[in-house]
Amino acid sequence: MLGTSRKHSKKRDAILQALRSTDSHPSAHWVYERLKSSIDGLSLATVYRNINLFQQEGSVVSVCVVDGKERFDGIVEPHPHFVCTCCGGVFDFSYPDFHLFTTVMDNHKGVEEFKIDYQKTVFYGLCKYCAEK
Ligand SMILES: [Zn+2]
Ligand SMILES: [Zn+2]
Repeated sequence: MLGTSRKHSKKRDAILQALRSTDSHPSAHWVYERLKSSIDGLSLATVYRNINLFQQEGSVVSVCVVDGKERFDGIVEPHPHFVCTCCGGVFDFSYPDFHLFTTVMDNHKGVEEFKIDYQKTVFYGLCKYCAEK
């Protein structure tokens, strides 16, 4: 029994570490492909299940869906993203006035119709590499 649970947490740790080791905002497939040769018996379903748990715990966030695949981020502080519609790259995207937008959101917390729990900002377009092609 103990052996089983230890194995589970080893997978769990490896999955979380893989998500945090990159700024490429990977999909569950990416994590699976990366870990499958080093972890015996790892399945894509296990990766999905663990990512779901991480999301519930708040240690991982879902950024967006690109080409039908959900992409995740190990950085949970709200920050804007840029998605390239050509290569499918997901990038952290900072612009100087983002904090102003966050302030607007905070000021609207008292609005009766809506209670804002979180916000997501995703821009779409071409990355530098694709734009130059
Ligand atoms: Zn691109
Ligand atoms: Zn990010």
